[in-house]
Amino acid sequence: MKKINFSAGPAILPASVLEEAADAVRDLNNSGLSILEISHRSKAFSQVLLETESLVRELMGVGEEYAVLFLSGGASTQFFYTAMNLLNPEETAGFLDTGAWSAKAIKETKLFGKVNVLASSKESNYDHIPRSYTIPEGLKYLHVTSNNTIFGTQIHEWPETSTPLVADMSSDIFSRRIPLEKFGIIYAGAQKNLGPAGVTLVIVKKDLLGTVERALPSMLDYRVHIKGASTYNTPPVYPIYVMMLTLRWIKEQGGLEAMEKHNEKKAKLLYDEIDRNPKFKGTVSDKESRSLMNVTFVCTDEADTERFQKEATEAGCDGVKGHRSVGGFRASIYNSMPYEGVETLVNVMKDF
Ligand SMILES: *Cc1c(COP(=O)(O)O)cnc(C)c1O
Repeated sequence: MKKINFSAGPAILPASVLEEAADAVRDLNNSGLSILEISHRSKAFSQVLLETESLVRELMGVGEEYAVLFLSGGASTQFFYTAMNLLNPEETAGFLDTGAWSAKAIKETKLFGKVNVLASSKESNYDHIPRSYTIPEGLKYLHVTSNNTIFGTQIHEWPETSTPLVADMSSDIFSRRIPLEKFGIIYAGAQKNLGPAGVTLVIVKKDLLGTVERALPSMLDYRVHIKGASTYNTPPVYPIYVMMLTLRWIKEQGGLEAMEKHNEKKAKLLYDEIDRNPKFKGTVSDKESRSLMNVTFVCTDEADTERFQKEATEAGCDGVKGHRSVGGFRASIYNSMPYEGVETLVNVMKDF
């Protein structure tokens, strides 16, 4: 039986994407070759790269002042890569500390420059997005984690500032419309909302680069990858191919506006049940901070936890278990999760 995949990442992909991706492993577009065995400099892959980039640009409205890169190393590499490329030792990056991923980015950034944490919800185990803080003058950039995959919170109001935002969007990229002009860099590991693990999408405003004094190894210099059009070295060919298929799927669904509606509808169904059903409660203290991607909740009576887990699993819901630092349950309902998948989980909750 095909399971309903609520895993936080690597995560669910559209069924049609999986089928086409499997076909391409056997034979890419009747070429007689597998996508796994073609050169990254072949005509076939150059076309994949071009189409993937143009879909990113089209869906998000990314203009020529930004470069679109497909790198490796995951979002975790971008934690220090952004600092290495943007921040001189005497310069300061602002941070909103909204979860474990933000904390890691802060730690890495301190290796290269100064860090000013403008607000943190750590004291309350990151159960909300801080909303009252001041943004000082003179920050080189302000780093935010748009969606906190582990704690189930999401930024719904972007900081009001002309300081460029550097955003880790690993777990909500392409799930909604964003005011692109506020962002200096957007990065996202693909394995939550875009494709398989192995490629990191980076959208970088070109005029922010070239201001650091330190020497950068080629592989850790955005400008080298921009010049090489993401083929300075061998890029993750297959993950990029699957990302292309996923972006085509998003476009077919109606783009980011349609994704946003679809995601709001699914999240509402699940949160309404959490709020209505006395057997469950949400872990996010401030409802305005709730994530539309990762829905975290617990059983009101902890003794029910194991039984609910069992019933959800029996209904075909896989990966609903919460992260160890929050406990309880987490249902990740990324773009590719159909409404009917959430309905199945909600029905288990109703019957419970
Ligand atoms: C999963 C995740 C990461 C880590 O990504 P890797 O690709 O494993 O390095 C970073 N930030 C967020 C928000 C995530 O969800």
